[in-house]
Amino acid sequence: MNTLIPTALVGSLPKPSWLAQPETLWSPWKLEGDALTEGKQDALRVAVQEQQRRGLDIISDGEQTRQHFVTTFIEHLDGVDFDRRETVRIRDRYDASVPTVVGAVSRQKPVFVDDVKYLRQQTDQPIKWALPGPMTMIDTLADRHYKSREKLAWEFATILNQEARELEAAGADIIQFDEPAFNVFFDELQDWGVATLERAAEGLRAETVVHICYGYGIKANTDWKATLGAEWRQYEASFPLLQQSTIDGVSLESRNSHVPLDILELIRGKKVMLGAIDVASDTIETPEQVAETLRDALEFVDADKLIASTNCGMAPLARDVARGKMSALSAGAALVREELSVRV
Ligand SMILES: [Zn+2]
Repeated sequence: MNTLIPTALVGSLPKPSWLAQPETLWSPWKLEGDALTEGKQDALRVAVQEQQRRGLDIISDGEQTRQHFVTTFIEHLDGVDFDRRETVRIRDRYDASVPTVVGAVSRQKPVFVDDVKYLRQQTDQPIKWALPGPMTMIDTLADRHYKSREKLAWEFATILNQEARELEAAGADIIQFDEPAFNVFFDELQDWGVATLERAAEGLRAETVVHICYGYGIKANTDWKATLGAEWRQYEASFPLLQQSTIDGVSLESRNSHVPLDILELIRGKKVMLGAIDVASDTIETPEQVAETLRDALEFVDADKLIASTNCGMAPLARDVARGKMSALSAGAALVREELSVRV
């Protein structure tokens, strides 16, 4: 990538109303069969076009082919029974009815390869694809087979690695693993979290990034955030481990969060996808606000390592709000780019 401070979304964009209920997380599809396949591809094309029109440098699918960032992947695996549901506590924060692991987990065929191929056909720009991370996967399931979070995480890491290698072969330039669980389970993070993530990314030539966030702007998350105090130092647990890891970069929240930016020092040398857009607010940032967030981060990140991004996915937002936020992201990054080029 030649552009200094390139821009990229973390993940989801709102879906069109003909595909799924807008402004709702994880809403079911409105189409079926071939019409659904075609509808997802149409939505993906719109998502690409909107990112391009608003000047984004790294293009993603806006998660238009996925209902949920974790379960859509798991749905395609053997060993998980989606009819047998149990209520478990997710991210140590809220209860949810989840599918159950009832046997050995395995992947019989690729999950997202066709989608990546389709995305690849739509653009010559670098493309990024997101997969759930092993720890976040096990935290979204009830397990009646392995009876060990660690064992199941290693199994998923192997499966993710198979998938990631095929996504890379299909043309993905960047593979992102979503691990919001890294901000919650600090002992596991230390014991096997980063190790299983490295296993998932093993042997990839594509750039790898791990997205660690404080979640979508839903009530359970905003309530949790209110208990975290004036300074959110959760990243202090993961960054030193990731700094020593084979993972190329991290994606983190910044805009409107209480994350002290000096923690970026702990990840020096890695790529940093900095969240300069708040996804829990309908207020569209000004380019100057985005630029300010990026400038503050440049105190701790080398400019050639900084990627301007969003805090998390934008699925629950209105489409015009998401579009406005993309424009602000591009314009804000352009401001800082200009300042840096003047300085050189
Ligand atoms: Zn997120």
